[in-house]
Amino acid sequence: MTVVQDVVSEEGADPKMPPGVLVEGPVVDAKFRDSYISFAIMIAGSIAALVWAFTQGIGWVEIWVFVGMFSLSTVGIGVAMHRLFVHRSFRCGPVMRAFFGAIATMAVQGSVLKWVSNHRRHHLHADKPGDVHSPYYDGFGNRIASFAKGMSHAQGGWVWDQATTDAEYYAKDILADPIAMFFTRTRWYWYALSAVIIPGAIGYAFGGVHAMIGCVLFSGLFRSYLMTMATSLVNSVCHSDGRFGYRRFELDDGTTNELVTTILTFGEGLHNNHHRFPRDAYLSHAWYEIDINGLIILGLGKLGLVHDIFIHPDNER
Ligand SMILES: [Zn+2]
Ligand SMILES: [Zn+2]
Repeated sequence: MTVVQDVVSEEGADPKMPPGVLVEGPVVDAKFRDSYISFAIMIAGSIAALVWAFTQGIGWVEIWVFVGMFSLSTVGIGVAMHRLFVHRSFRCGPVMRAFFGAIATMAVQGSVLKWVSNHRRHHLHADKPGDVHSPYYDGFGNRIASFAKGMSHAQGGWVWDQATTDAEYYAKDILADPIAMFFTRTRWYWYALSAVIIPGAIGYAFGGVHAMIGCVLFSGLFRSYLMTMATSLVNSVCHSDGRFGYRRFELDDGTTNELVTTILTFGEGLHNNHHRFPRDAYLSHAWYEIDINGLIILGLGKLGLVHDIFIHPDNER
């Protein structure tokens, strides 16, 4: 594998990039393969879903499956992928860890290994050269010319950078975790379960073949795409340096807390709070900051299903 460090010395490449970034080789090829296939399926499915909705109509079964699967995968990204696997905000036994591995992967946002590696790199270099999806610097550490271009890079353009994060550098714990690696290896099965099989089965059970097709397109594929776009608002809107939302803490980055993103992501939009206290399991610092994912973790703690819930000592509320 080629890391940027080596490229700098060998080829005189731009020294702005820190170590832990791969610019070529099989890992970058694999990233493109995964991204092309999953986005092609989600976007084709979303177009078909809109055509289906306008020509065939959408009923209550499709809407409830949409809401249910959107909620499950939003908790999967927020509670499981982000706060458990990336930040280790709490601990749990192997059965719960496997459950969290499943719902994290069912968000269809890449494997646990890839998501964890990217997000840790994002925190280490937040809005500086080396950040994987900053509105201010591209994937090679070059300043992005305009705010609009930066927003579009952070919202999704970064996925197509000819570079990726080295898991050996950022996620050794995940590489050594058999549960997380099981879900990393079997990710396509969980994507299929989330976007096709579960919505289709529920649709068929409650409304026959017509509802089955509607559920696969609208509540499976279209929902996966919309949910990914909602999560991505955290990278764009919540790094807008106060243009959207507000800053509770003056940090050395562009993070903000933003209400719409917070609602759509069940709390992840409290992103300025999160960058101040990255390991905290609960992100709210005021009654109007509603962190549903954090409340779920606290609730699971009360039930004894998770433990060692982390709150920074400076942050007693
Ligand atoms: Zn961030
Ligand atoms: Zn984070």
